[in-house]
Amino acid sequence: MNSDWLDTLNPAQDRCVRHPPTGPLQILAGPGSGKTKVLTSRIAYLILNHEIPPSSICAVTFTNKAANEMRARLIKLIGKEQTALVKMGTFHSICALFLRKHAHSVGLEGNFTVCDADESKKIISGLLKLHKDFLATKDISLKEGTVLSIISKAKAQGQSPDDVSPRKLHAAKKGDHFNTPIQGDIQHVVAEIFKDYEKFLRQSNSLDFDDLLVFGVKLFSQHPRFALWCQHVLVDEFQDTNTTQYKLMRCIAAATKCVTVVGDPDQSIYGWRSAEVANLARMRNDFTNVTQIFLEQNYRSAQSILAASVAVISQDKSRIPKTLYTSHPLGPRPVLRSFPSEHDEASFIAYEIKRTVAQTGGMLTYGDFVVLLRFNAISRSIESALQKERIPNRILGGHKFFERAEIKDLLAYLQLIDNPQFEPAFSRAVNVPSRGIGDKSLAEILSRADKLKASPLAVIERICDSKIPDLKVSVKRKASPFVATIRKLRKLAAEGTSPSDLIQHLLELIGYGEHLKKTQPDWDTRWENVQELISFASEATADSVNATPAMPDPSGDTPLRLFLQTSMLSSEGDTSNAEDSEKVTIATCHAAKGLEWPVVFIPAGGTFPFYRADDIEEERRLLYVACTRAQTLLYLTYSLKRKVAGDAKTKDLSEFVSAVVRKDQSLFTDKPPHLSLSDRELMAKILGRDKVLADEAEVGRRMAMFKLEVKSSPLYGDPTDNLGADIFGHQPSKHGSEEEEAY
Ligand code: ATP
Ligand code: MG
Repeated sequence: MNSDWLDTLNPAQDRCVRHPPTGPLQILAGPGSGKTKVLTSRIAYLILNHEIPPSSICAVTFTNKAANEMRARLIKLIGKEQTALVKMGTFHSICALFLRKHAHSVGLEGNFTVCDADESKKIISGLLKLHKDFLATKDISLKEGTVLSIISKAKAQGQSPDDVSPRKLHAAKKGDHFNTPIQGDIQHVVAEIFKDYEKFLRQSNSLDFDDLLVFGVKLFSQHPRFALWCQHVLVDEFQDTNTTQYKLMRCIAAATKCVTVVGDPDQSIYGWRSAEVANLARMRNDFTNVTQIFLEQNYRSAQSILAASVAVISQDKSRIPKTLYTSHPLGPRPVLRSFPSEHDEASFIAYEIKRTVAQTGGMLTYGDFVVLLRFNAISRSIESALQKERIPNRILGGHKFFERAEIKDLLAYLQLIDNPQFEPAFSRAVNVPSRGIGDKSLAEILSRADKLKASPLAVIERICDSKIPDLKVSVKRKASPFVATIRKLRKLAAEGTSPSDLIQHLLELIGYGEHLKKTQPDWDTRWENVQELISFASEATADSVNATPAMPDPSGDTPLRLFLQTSMLSSEGDTSNAEDSEKVTIATCHAAKGLEWPVVFIPAGGTFPFYRADDIEEERRLLYVACTRAQTLLYLTYSLKRKVAGDAKTKDLSEFVSAVVRKDQSLFTDKPPHLSLSDRELMAKILGRDKVLADEAEVGRRMAMFKLEVKSSPLYGDPTDNLGADIFGHQPSKHGSEEEEAY
């Protein structure tokens, strides 16, 4: 295979790629310096030049989406066949694959179900009820979400129920919902729930997300032979690994000690989820002769964007300063602008997107724009402004597909076929569609299951077969269609029916379409989602089948199990499709990690730092991550009136930005760029789009159409209207030449 791609690397990147495979390597570098590119190139180099079998390479990415992107990049370097053999995915998905094969080695059944946060919360909510009276006497309200996050943090730090110490726990007390140190009694309750929760999961033959890592560590540490398949581990975004993930990496690399990690302490933004940037130093201690290489050239952003971003992060006095430069041209200065209200702010964003598409003569399309939010809840005004202007948009990681009720309804049936022990699936499916099996009957079934040491499904089957005669006759009548459906599906699955066909059969057997029509006003959208699930099922099984040869022991996995696993591990943005590339993206800053867009808007400046944040520096780093996603244009906006969670005191301008402006006003401008021919040429150069660079005539034509449209749009009114006072201390001029030209 042609290796011209090696020539595209700069000398420092080249050193990383060619570094001997046996030497542990740590690459530390700022955003856009090619860390992910280097990681991908190193995989290719290990395979092509050191003849390391692709199946013995384990590449860990932060999200499944990132794994898909890395896979696409690798295909270009080494081809599809070789790429398919590399084990690539998140720590969670890699653990899930191995646990599936070797479940018995850690006391699990091979058909365990991965339960999601929603199901975990339901289980905890049930367990909390057992402590209701006790909590009431102490006047303490403990929410299932709080308990789950305590348990999750404990697991991320490798702690068991016995390890949770009162000092480390925080719980919500009435009237003071955050950071109240938990008292001994409450700690006791949480520890009890933690224990019972674990017991419940094991009885249901299921693992939660954190368990995938915990059991992964167990598997590789108790059975080091499973780690022998791995000759090299590579980890992207290493600064955001938690203790358990770090342990996992160490266990997997135990045999060869061949590891390559890339990271950037300035982009560590998951401390709130127990990530520990200290893992970088830990690695240097735990592995011998770790080589550190620093990359200093940024290839992503125009100079002015990089300068403003670096000015933001440089305000953190505790950080180790590092060099980051770009040989890209200066480019238009980032825009910093205020608006009277969040609606004006959102309208401006919609307006700027349309204007920029017109003014670049179509070189930029809607897919080139992203609006990055501190948290999802503020997306409403942006979404409606874009919708009003008929600008197609999508939310990355917004309403998660697999969390939709209609999807969960159908998956519950399939989970039950695969793992009859999984109680959450039973409790859901038994009343879809509603069969009138009430809470009392359900509680009776569950308690019998407990007594008989059988699954609730087995109990209800016995009821229907009249083997448990003393339960109400009506239960038998109501449950019979459910049991018949399960039996039919089970038979189909055993005959090897594909997951997508199983879903089709299920829809017919339970009359799900009719059920949606009768019960849901938006049944048509939900039905579309169901159809989407069917196509996802056919694609996921096809992909999984291709990936199977990469695994050490492909036996034992049914297509149904592979499909369920892919669904449960799908995370934010995984379900995006080709059409999405023509839509403006709305995403949280966290979800945007590692990605890049030509034009970035960061509205609601006052939400940095988040008003409930514990770690102010982490908030600053988050803003830095957001700014450094931009390639050619960056907008920071804020509104003078915004309430967040009813808190009207939220500051309008981020203190992180005002600190920068106080030092150097010239880093920003309040005037949206006009985008002259030279600006457009420069943008085309950075984006590598010289071929689509439109001529002046095309730009003129599009701008004329845009102006006509704006005149007739109720959204903006007179485009020369003052959109808001700016932070530079003057009102933007109604007839200011630069601005008038821009609009
Ligand atoms: P982040 O910290 O945000 O994850 P990163 O360091 O992983 O960033 P990459 O995403 O690998 O950076 O690269 C950023 C951009 O720069 C990509 O578009 C990549 O193709 C480009 N790039 C990286 N190195 C080079 C190079 N040597 N020549 C040309 N383009 C490069
Ligand atoms: Mg990266």
